[in-house]
Amino acid sequence: MINDLLLNSTIIVTFISLGNQFYVRENGITESSSISVKTMFGVSAGVLGCILMLNSVVVVPTVILDFRNIAIILSSIFAGPIASIITSIIIGVFRVIYFGTTTSSITALIIAIVMGIGCPIFGTIGISMRQKWMYKTVFCTIIGSLAYIFLVKNTIILLNILCAYWIGNSLIAILLYDYTNYLMISNEIYTKYKEESLKDFLTGLNNVRQFDKAFNSITSRISERGEYLSLLFIDIDFFKKVNDTYGHTEGDKVLQELGKVLLKTCGDFGIVSRNGGEEFSVMLVGCLPQQAINIAERVRTTVEKHQFTLTSGEMICITISIGVATYPQTTKDFSKLTEEADKALYKAKQTGRNKVVYLANNYEKEEHTLLLNRW
Ligand code: GH3
Ligand code: MG
Ligand code: MG
Repeated sequence: MINDLLLNSTIIVTFISLGNQFYVRENGITESSSISVKTMFGVSAGVLGCILMLNSVVVVPTVILDFRNIAIILSSIFAGPIASIITSIIIGVFRVIYFGTTTSSITALIIAIVMGIGCPIFGTIGISMRQKWMYKTVFCTIIGSLAYIFLVKNTIILLNILCAYWIGNSLIAILLYDYTNYLMISNEIYTKYKEESLKDFLTGLNNVRQFDKAFNSITSRISERGEYLSLLFIDIDFFKKVNDTYGHTEGDKVLQELGKVLLKTCGDFGIVSRNGGEEFSVMLVGCLPQQAINIAERVRTTVEKHQFTLTSGEMICITISIGVATYPQTTKDFSKLTEEADKALYKAKQTGRNKVVYLANNYEKEEHTLLLNRW
């Protein structure tokens, strides 16, 4: 019996670990997930229920029980009513098909469906995860016990079954509550670190790692579709002076506020990142050079007019220089686009700062002249 219990626990823990990996951690399955994800989870838990049924625990030769109800509880806890009902139908139907149409099979089918419908009800009331596990386990154990009472006529055997059933279910539910709780906590930490690893801690914008990730995925997409990609490289003018005059902490405050200004000005259509220090970038998918220059100019003037509030309440103004580069106009080589935007930024710094510069290549000379004439 101990071996059977260990085998069942191992099967359930394996399922939870794999389910956590595929459904919960990466896809973040919740009650609001898509029907197809819930259905997949329900089917997987149904398969778990069938496997548990095939690996029943032999308490004594006349007393055999299994933990199929745990599969229904798991399904209802992680994926809600649709999954739980699917799981229960798979378990019930498998019971009838595999063991034949007998009174106990039909009873088992009905019991499974009652569990599948009943369990999610405890998810709708505002109770803690621990209480959900407890109520669902008690509910399923009561329903399962009723089935045994209906099917087993010998009182001694019935009492043995009920005793083993209640103790077994309680032990497994406690083990699983602890294990799933541990997984949930580690998932939260994992998600937090994953998000933080892609966000700039100071401004909350994308950091350089996320910039690279987004740049690579955008460039592979647009090279297939023949779209444009414009890149704005932004650098604060004389930022050292801000730090020297007001201190590093106030400098940080200016960086945070600049992040908000950039998001407000072009966050709706551009991907704004802090690439490091006081350097920011905006990726503009589908933007032609002239549109990118117009946007950059709007950003530049907005920042120029913006009053940055320091901790003391004092307001200061800063200016920024912006280098613009566009694929395929500036370069047909994606790997050179950032380099080109950087070159344009350098030119803006060299030629007076507080300006937008777009450097066209030779084959674009005419367009370049046109652009420069406009502003
Ligand atoms: P310019 O770009 O116009 O040539 O002049 P600059 O003074 O901005 O020159 P540079 O880009 O070389 O200096 C950037 C300064 O930004 C240096 C550094 O002290 C400051 N800085 C970089 N990262 C941070 C940060 O996270 N917080 C604060 N407060 N300052 C930073
Ligand atoms: Mg700099
Ligand atoms: Mg600077």
